[in-house]
Amino acid sequence: MMITYCRKCVMPSTKPDLPLDIDGVCGACRNFESRREIDWSARGREFQEITDRYRDHTNTRWDCIVPVSGGKDSTAQVLKVLEFGLRPLCVTSTTCDLSELGRENIDNLKGLGVDYIEFTANPVVRKKLNRIGLEIVGDIAWPEHVGIFTIPVRAAVQFEVPLIIWGENAQHEYGGPAHSATERTLTRRWLEEFGGLLGLRVADLPGQAGISEGDLASYRYPDDEELARVGVTGVFLGYFFEWDGLANTLLSEAYGFKTFQTAVEGSMLSYENLDNHQHGIHDYFKFLKYGYGRATDHVCMQMRRGRLSRKQAIDIVRKRDGVFPWTYLGKPLAEILEPLGLNVEEFQSICDRFTNKQLFVTDGDGGLLRDGFGNLTKVNYDNVD
Ligand SMILES: [Zn+2]
Repeated sequence: MMITYCRKCVMPSTKPDLPLDIDGVCGACRNFESRREIDWSARGREFQEITDRYRDHTNTRWDCIVPVSGGKDSTAQVLKVLEFGLRPLCVTSTTCDLSELGRENIDNLKGLGVDYIEFTANPVVRKKLNRIGLEIVGDIAWPEHVGIFTIPVRAAVQFEVPLIIWGENAQHEYGGPAHSATERTLTRRWLEEFGGLLGLRVADLPGQAGISEGDLASYRYPDDEELARVGVTGVFLGYFFEWDGLANTLLSEAYGFKTFQTAVEGSMLSYENLDNHQHGIHDYFKFLKYGYGRATDHVCMQMRRGRLSRKQAIDIVRKRDGVFPWTYLGKPLAEILEPLGLNVEEFQSICDRFTNKQLFVTDGDGGLLRDGFGNLTKVNYDNVD
């Protein structure tokens, strides 16, 4: 098989929910083009109206919930809501294997002058869910992806703060079905369709690895009655303001946000996904299943903004994308796997099980060819030039 890539960026058509159109261009590039027609000042006024409507004039509670990780985007998010004079309650659902840098950036975010809650789901259950996610759907980050959506919504219900201000609509920048890309709100339906659940539902879990129904409370979205009682609604900041990770980084750094010393393993950037040592495994499995990793995401975003040529982008992809995750943010793989009760050999056999062998070079007998560092080579890196 030959991998087909978008003619404008280098995203392969194997990415789920990202078909190429009749001109061979992907939905994410089309979404980006359509941004040019957006009247951003009208959108800014729309945001002002919404926040005026939801602002708490009694001074007895918060104006909005802001889900944050401490990363560059959430730092920029907090700066934006403060700019609009809002009093946010920032909520973090803790990552699975928080890095030192992640902790420093969370502390920095609090120091911007906000109230803040950090929610840690039972770590014993979390480790089991990491392993179930990895072994069943090939995604170690499955529980984290559920938690980052459910916990802020639960906080909204709990503290009776109806407005939740999310960051970007990931479906817009990364592409997805057209109807989801234009939405400015995050609903339960969005979560179920695009929240990265990969068909594994919370309801499937009780009974597995000794997990009980009650262990999963923090992974459940509040029910419709609770949401209606508080009138919970969510908006994406990326709908109202032009979203750009680099711009968010530059702004955040001016307010104390810290980056990694070099480009992060498997990535082309030093300023993204700095909070969880398991992130490299998540990205690597995306590469094994669909033939693109984090570096591809990054070069595509830069290509759309005219900051990289196709030739440069492909060169970066060849060098950085999908490298075997021996370390992430400097932490060795064996140490990252240890809490899950897995060793590197067991991990490699799970990798093999989830690898789409049609996307990678194999030997005469159909076995995957690896270089001395365990890295795979894609069957082709471009079909345009
Ligand atoms: Zn594209």
